Amino acid sequence: MTLHFSVLASGSTGNAIYVENGEHSFLVDAGMSGKQMEALFNEIGRDIKNLSGLFVTHEHSDHIKGVGILARKYKLPVYANEKTWQAMDGLIGEIPVDQKFVFGMESVKTFGSLDIESFGVSHDAAEPMFYVFHQDGKKLVLVTDTGYVSDRMKGIISNADAYVFESNHDVQMLRMGRYPWNVKRRILSDVGHISNEDAAIAMSEVAGDNTKSFYLAHLSLDNNMKDLARMSVQQTLESRGILIGEQFNLYDTDPKKPTVLTAV
Ligand SMILES: [Zn+2]
Ligand SMILES: [Zn+2]
Repeated sequence: MTLHFSVLASGSTGNAIYVENGEHSFLVDAGMSGKQMEALFNEIGRDIKNLSGLFVTHEHSDHIKGVGILARKYKLPVYANEKTWQAMDGLIGEIPVDQKFVFGMESVKTFGSLDIESFGVSHDAAEPMFYVFHQDGKKLVLVTDTGYVSDRMKGIISNADAYVFESNHDVQMLRMGRYPWNVKRRILSDVGHISNEDAAIAMSEVAGDNTKSFYLAHLSLDNNMKDLARMSVQQTLESRGILIGEQFNLYDTDPKKPTVLTAV
């Protein structure tokens, strides 16, 4: 079976990633209204009612805005770790107990031939974690909302076939920009978001022989641009001897438009 995925939307206005293997299909986060989520599913020719489940990464609103609505309307099983469930209490409304599942940190859940593995990231939420999808020897890594990429994370996410990888901000734009200093400090901190340059350094360290693609994700609307992110990631990779198009390719994601449903 082949994994396919689409980054439905990415950025501080809302995040959602769709993954399917022909037998099961999953959503990672639902950070937009129910209506917007339905429109995004239409665009990729899929129906929310066929989802097998929804995995939550952390309780920030750009990741959970639509979780309660979709869970209730489509009777979706929802998976999150214990602390994230506690933190979501009061934010997503009531979800029936038989739809609430605990997905512990650094654990694996198996759905037929698909293994889904969770791992922790460094971010200012209760217990933020992201996911690796394993299918027939192929590996898809999703990782955004992290201040940096630790050695522990690198070990778990190394040599994947495809990555959805945060490239949040240009440090210069952020420093010069209009955000108040405390917000800038939060973003730049170890529990904020990763810069284009630091993302590229981490990419150079985790990419392996199997790696074919990186989707640059969760770009800041105020402190980044698609071209700038791509250019600085490319430059940093080149300075480390990695040529885009030879080792692997870079792809954009968008705050409002899904990426083409693509095989891993
Ligand atoms: Zn986020
Ligand atoms: Zn976040």
